Amino acid sequence: MDSRGKISEAGQQLQQQADVVFNGKNCNPASATNNQQVFLVVEEPEAGLPVSVHPPLMFSFNERIRPLLDAVDKLRHLKVAQEGIQLPTIVVVGDQSSGKSSVLESLAGISLPRGQGICTRVPLIMRLQRHQDPQPELHLEYHGKVVPTDDTHIAEAIVFATNEIAGNGKGISNTPLTLVVKKRGVPDLTMVDLPGITRVPVHGQPEDIYEQISEIIMEYIKPEESIILNVLSATVDFPTCESIRMSQRVDKTGERTLAVVTKADKAPEGLLEKVTADDVNIGLGYVCVRNRIGEESYEEARVEEASLFQTHPLLSKIDKSLVGVPVLAQKLVQIQATIISKCLPDIVRKINEKLNSNISELSRMPQNLSSVTEAMTEFMRIIGFSKESLRKILLRGQFEELPYQDDERMHCPARLVEMLNQFADELQKSAENKSTEKFLVDEMRVLDETKGIGLPNFLPRTAFLVILQKKVKEISKTPVDFMAEVWDYIETVLITVLMNHCENYPQLQSATRRATHNLVAKMKHKSFERVMEMVEMERLADCTCSTEYMSDWGKLMAQQNVFMEVMNDHSKPTIITIEGFGEIEVGHLRGHNSDVRDQAFDMKMRITAYWKVVLKRFVDNMALHLLLSVQNLVNRDMEEEIVTELMGSQGGGPSVIQRMLEESPSTAKKRERLNKSIKLLKESKEVVAQIIDRITVDD
Ligand code: GDP
Ligand code: MG
Repeated sequence: MDSRGKISEAGQQLQQQADVVFNGKNCNPASATNNQQVFLVVEEPEAGLPVSVHPPLMFSFNERIRPLLDAVDKLRHLKVAQEGIQLPTIVVVGDQSSGKSSVLESLAGISLPRGQGICTRVPLIMRLQRHQDPQPELHLEYHGKVVPTDDTHIAEAIVFATNEIAGNGKGISNTPLTLVVKKRGVPDLTMVDLPGITRVPVHGQPEDIYEQISEIIMEYIKPEESIILNVLSATVDFPTCESIRMSQRVDKTGERTLAVVTKADKAPEGLLEKVTADDVNIGLGYVCVRNRIGEESYEEARVEEASLFQTHPLLSKIDKSLVGVPVLAQKLVQIQATIISKCLPDIVRKINEKLNSNISELSRMPQNLSSVTEAMTEFMRIIGFSKESLRKILLRGQFEELPYQDDERMHCPARLVEMLNQFADELQKSAENKSTEKFLVDEMRVLDETKGIGLPNFLPRTAFLVILQKKVKEISKTPVDFMAEVWDYIETVLITVLMNHCENYPQLQSATRRATHNLVAKMKHKSFERVMEMVEMERLADCTCSTEYMSDWGKLMAQQNVFMEVMNDHSKPTIITIEGFGEIEVGHLRGHNSDVRDQAFDMKMRITAYWKVVLKRFVDNMALHLLLSVQNLVNRDMEEEIVTELMGSQGGGPSVIQRMLEESPSTAKKRERLNKSIKLLKESKEVVAQIIDRITVDD
């Protein structure tokens, strides 16, 4: 059987045993009528409480419940709540002066601090443990220390500890204080007393005292594992109680709420009706009590209480299963057994789950590198992985398994194509925008300036080159700007990928960042040189082996007839449509020398056909240049640059790598947190394993 099975089986056994022990009839104590059978709690008559339970049976029950309760208390002490594991807890809530402390005192048989306003200013975890020795043993646990105390000094000691935790003023704190009471005759119970709810801050209390207290109370009563012990004064109308409103917010049906009605002696009228009408949905029932008054001893108080409920004309009518501190104690012990047995399997599961997930998280964390060799290996690994990632996303456009699926900036080939297309458009535009002159005027001026002695029907090549050079000059800035933009983009991609790969090593990150920046600056410089060279080449000569040039020129020249007709026939409209130019005004050309004009037309068509070739060549060359540069960068230059940067810094040498790979404080903290948490969970697991062992042995 697995541990879960064992524990839940043990829980069921416990539950059955609890029923037998407490009722003798295997039924809910609320329905028990014989008060002899519900008065139990202790088997030692000298403790002053009525005894009725068959001692061996009671003993056997306590033997069963103790290890479970101890285990839960140990888990509480280990602070498993920090790991998000809730423990079954009885939480005492109530409005101010409803009698919370008095009820706890009655259960523990000790004096807690009393006073005006709030004296419970921190959660007080009260651990009551049955004890064989007639000498009680009391101590406080807080801030990691154990402070022994005794019956007469306990109140003082609590006040002292509270001041230490929450300050001397009237403020409150969420840090709990644990009080352990080992005493004859007390029930085995662990409860948490919380500050009383107060609407109006008294002098010296913070303005938001209500919110602060509500927050603490909510934190304790919210978990399903908490039993709410709602302390109500018989002197008030229950529906108006703030504590009722709070518990109803987290436990609407009241299935985990038990009500204790105090001060029964002060307001006996109508109490029976109040608890039977149950206007406020108390699922676990009511217990009416009369606490210690004045200087009575606890023994006297119990005797007074018993006789009050026995003899008072109104109070004696209330069913005996609903009155008295011993009944309350017994109910609480039973509820506690039930809830612990119900919760333990879940706690075991949660401990295991948490432990496993923490262990695997720790194993996924980078190793703490303690030697140069380890650091070197890790460094090579980082470089290797970075290269592989960059090859994928920059060169091949594979980004599926990297963390960049949804980041469009990182879909590099697509972005580069977009940039190139945009560059081609811009190149086209920057060439067009500049020609503001009227049709052919520029060409004719150039022809005029380059004319030489010779036959008129030869197109001077110099003229063509002048026009070409002018055009190339006009666009020469665009490729330079484009290169700068592309390299800036590539730099962001490089940084993103590299930073990701060395995210655990902040020093390596900054060195890598510097290296990348230097490297991209170098690449940019090389590209600028390359672009300038391309510009120079285009300016130097006109040349292409593309057949497109000839065919384009031919198509354009086919329109010369239309042009000439308009030039010669003055009756025709002066706006003509030439393909590749759109609608053009040509009226200004009519008076010109027809030789020059026709040559200008021819030249315009040649340059137009050739310009297409030039622009295409620019874009193609740039694209190829970029591809080659990026490839060299990823495969060769990057690694070299990073190593050079690292070796050059901090005196150089391989030990630099080790220093660079020192983990960040946040990683170190995370590792520490995980290790701590794993230790705690392992201890908790040990605690639970011990119970399972005991259960198995007992069986
Ligand atoms: P807390 O603020 O809820 O902790 O309330 P306390 O336990 O300090 O009680 C408030 C006052 O009510 C104290 O003066 C107690 O003595 C008194 N008190 C509590 N329970 C009873 C009771 O059953 N009968 C009577 N007569 N007084 C009680
Ligand atoms: Mg109190």
